Amino acid sequence: MRKAALTVDTWELARLVQEQHGEAPLAGFSRLLEGLPEQTGRVVSWSVSGETNTLGQCFMTLRARVDVTLECQRCLSMFDYSLQMENRLRLVETEAEIEAEEAGVDDPDIPDHLLGSSFFDVLELVEDELILALPYVPKHEVCPSLPQELETPEGSDTGRPSPFAVLAKLKKD
Ligand SMILES: [Zn+2]
Repeated sequence: MRKAALTVDTWELARLVQEQHGEAPLAGFSRLLEGLPEQTGRVVSWSVSGETNTLGQCFMTLRARVDVTLECQRCLSMFDYSLQMENRLRLVETEAEIEAEEAGVDDPDIPDHLLGSSFFDVLELVEDELILALPYVPKHEVCPSLPQELETPEGSDTGRPSPFAVLAKLKKD
């Protein structure tokens, strides 16, 4: 399943200080879903709003959020995570302006530049930004319980010691 392309005119959005928002099934975001556990019935909510400052510079603020299921890397159980992003971008007209920005000092106060377009694919950018917002090592803040491996007594019916039990022994020695 591919997500339907959804285009906006970024220049008009900025000039008219408009906002657009909508929802799209997460199932269409195949690049984001790569490497994630199975997700069912999830929906991405997104919005874009435009503005123009007194210098005539155009900006676009993109926001998106979706609840995703992640696997905790500490206790290996699944948990729901509210994945969200917000990014204010300066719209520019040429690639050269983007290259100039990238070559310059990395000032966090200066918004990233984005090539504006009359047919801008919003959901592609939403997907890029949500991928960047994914936690690198997903973890519960506090795991709800010890991993099963630690709770299973040694010599249980699996017949072999869990890697955690082996580690614990190594630590004791
Ligand atoms: Zn956990």
